[in-house]
Amino acid sequence: MSPARPRSNLSSPALPSFEEAAALVAACAARLARLRPGPRSSGLAGPYMERVPLHQALGRVLAEPLLADADQPPFARSTRDGFACRAAEASAHRPLAVIGSTRAGQTPSGPLPRGAVWEIMTGAPVPAGADAIIMLEHVKEFDAHVEETCAPSTRAIRLLPLRTIRKGEHIVARAAQARKGDKLLPAGSLIGAAQIALAGSCGCAALNVFLKPRVAILSTGDELVPIRSSPGPGQIRNSSSAMLAAMVSAVGGSPWVLPIARDTAKSLDAALARAAAADLLLITGGVSAGKFDLVEPALTRAGARFHFTGVRIQPGKPLVFAELPRRSTGPNRNQSRTKCFGLPGNPVSSAVTFLLFAAPVVAALAGQRDCGPRFALARLTEDVKTKTGLTRFLPAACTFSGAIPEVALVPWQGSGDMAAMARANCFLVVPEDSDRLRAGSTVRILLP
Ligand code: AMP
Ligand code: MG
Repeated sequence: MSPARPRSNLSSPALPSFEEAAALVAACAARLARLRPGPRSSGLAGPYMERVPLHQALGRVLAEPLLADADQPPFARSTRDGFACRAAEASAHRPLAVIGSTRAGQTPSGPLPRGAVWEIMTGAPVPAGADAIIMLEHVKEFDAHVEETCAPSTRAIRLLPLRTIRKGEHIVARAAQARKGDKLLPAGSLIGAAQIALAGSCGCAALNVFLKPRVAILSTGDELVPIRSSPGPGQIRNSSSAMLAAMVSAVGGSPWVLPIARDTAKSLDAALARAAAADLLLITGGVSAGKFDLVEPALTRAGARFHFTGVRIQPGKPLVFAELPRRSTGPNRNQSRTKCFGLPGNPVSSAVTFLLFAAPVVAALAGQRDCGPRFALARLTEDVKTKTGLTRFLPAACTFSGAIPEVALVPWQGSGDMAAMARANCFLVVPEDSDRLRAGSTVRILLP
């Protein structure tokens, strides 16, 4: 990392490749994740965490492991409507007396006598002595008084011939999923609907989660006006701040949108001084090689150290990754310097570089464990021709309805084309050494 370095020449082969830049950012993200305080076994929420009701925990990150408060399931449970039996007796196709019935929420009154079955509903506890459940659909039921059974009964069943049943079939044994005290989820787990269900099953009506990192979003450019304004000649609306705020929220950060900074040293210096209170700073625009691209000199004046000032990617080549002296008192205050990305101003470039590089850092600051960008494989439906030398991430539409995902490029007018990006649902990855991807080949896509 260099202390304060002049602009790099963006056509220089010395720019890192996508893989090199991604590895560098991943290493930073891993260090940030380790700076999080360790899990606490009990007690009230501390300065790095807060307690949220379970129904508001979606998208948050567990600050403590989730422990099983009891065996799961707490009793041997039937997974079918049918009859609890001894598998060996049922498989002999003998008539078996139905001597009781248990539904979910009840407990069976006693052990299962030999030569008998117990009617049982899904979710009900299995009576002692039974070792399998015969599905309702697999029996013939008849009225009979079966002499050999221990209890008098007027109902009997027989497993339909040719079928047999194995020990354990349709029963989940007590504690088969977890034993009391087992760690069900580690600290750092992202909370989705499944994790909410699991926490609910353990009696957690509230969870301790990490505080969200505060992510400053600073759009720069003399041409930008707020979304509510009518742009004058040569002006455009600042759409990227709103987009990035949504992207920050989606990966667990708390967006802090700053007023637009102008392309002047004074405006940029004042904005950077303010933004240094954040846990992470995202700047858009002003990082290319133009006369009014003044962000890098402003970062240098603010004491930045640069990891890189460009990456061999398209869109997003002028991406800057730097660190600023820390002024934050937020949940990530124990990181010594504030990470900062200078994202190229075109909205598609901002979106791609956010997904590839900034999102993993936001997720790490939010306390998540696995926070790299998400890639998948799909089959390309049309030939794609490009040039070598840059890894490309091109707006594409992928359909997931068939046997395997199929992807095609969305026509676009370059990295300012927000309509194309809005029609896309992923980005096609074209490796740096490829000038052509053939229809029918398996390709990588970057997921939003
Ligand atoms: P820059 O990186 O500052 O050279 O900007 C590149 C292009 O992106 C220019 O056409 C800008 O007008 C446009 N742009 C920059 N910032 C934004 C923004 N916040 N919202 C929408 N477009 C932007
Ligand atoms: Mg600009």
